[in-house]
Amino acid sequence: MKVGIVGAGMVGSAAGFALVLQNIVSDLVLIDLDPARAQAEAEDIGHAVPFAGSTIVRSGGYGDIADASVVILACGVSQRPGETRPALLSRNAEVFHAVIDAVMAVAPEAILLVASNPVDVITQVSTRLSGLPPGRVIGSGTILDTARFRWLIGRHLGISPGSVHGYVLGEHGDSEVLAWSNVRAGSVPLTAFAAQIGAPLTEDVRARIDRGVRRAAYTIIAGKGATWYGIGAGLARIVQAIGRNEQAVLSVSMLEKDALGVPDVALSLPRLVGAQGVSTTLWPDLDAGETAALRRSAEVLKGMAESVVLPG
Ligand code: ADP
Repeated sequence: MKVGIVGAGMVGSAAGFALVLQNIVSDLVLIDLDPARAQAEAEDIGHAVPFAGSTIVRSGGYGDIADASVVILACGVSQRPGETRPALLSRNAEVFHAVIDAVMAVAPEAILLVASNPVDVITQVSTRLSGLPPGRVIGSGTILDTARFRWLIGRHLGISPGSVHGYVLGEHGDSEVLAWSNVRAGSVPLTAFAAQIGAPLTEDVRARIDRGVRRAAYTIIAGKGATWYGIGAGLARIVQAIGRNEQAVLSVSMLEKDALGVPDVALSLPRLVGAQGVSTTLWPDLDAGETAALRRSAEVLKGMAESVVLPG
């Protein structure tokens, strides 16, 4: 399986590194506006290969991703300290216009995996620009927020995050919805399990976890300028689900015809991911408050998407 990464910045390179450590890709090609950066990252990541497997890692141009199965789009400008995701939008939409044209010219069969923020709107823009069916243009969306949610719940309960089942839905950003009502530890509803083990989910605990998920990016950006390891691992997880045709349930973003009455908007829901991209969406059972919050999130994203003016 060949994977291309356009944008060898922190996120693209972290994704490449995670892919190499998992040894799930035969060829990895890094492309960047700055070829020296792409070359340096490819070499550095390549030096991890002897410890992990046999991936061929190199930098190149668009011609080198001609038969790629997946192209990760991690290019563009990163979030500045204090910058909201909507403010990033106009800067990144323009970058994507050129990049999607170049990718589609050489790899029309590839699944596009969008990582740049605001990821839902960039996913929607990329779907439009590429002309691909929505299931083949996947945004990393809330895969990372879901991981943060499971991690914090797992820490509170003292169990592995892999045994926590629950999702963050909607926007990857401020309006995202932590779907508390259907979280389970193993097969036991979260509140019941928490009470059983004497670690009740008080209002304080919920508020702390909610803040931990919702504010994570801002906190990390304040401390080190940007986030990359978590999202890099999340992108590698999506590539793995595609490469192995897993039909894994992952919370990823995709253009939805109708999201609770909001037409044509990209947002995250639990979706089946396999070799063809997203095949099915699993609409979760939500309580009334969560349903209303998800509709609001869809409306926020729709508003942002409508504000994008594409060049040409
Ligand atoms: P992030 O933290 O999101 O990875 P970075 O700024 O570290 O952000 O990385 C973004 C990368 O995308 C940079 O290396 C930049 O050179 C690259 N980039 C920007 N525009 C383009 C483009 N049009 N084509 C390819 N790469 C691009």
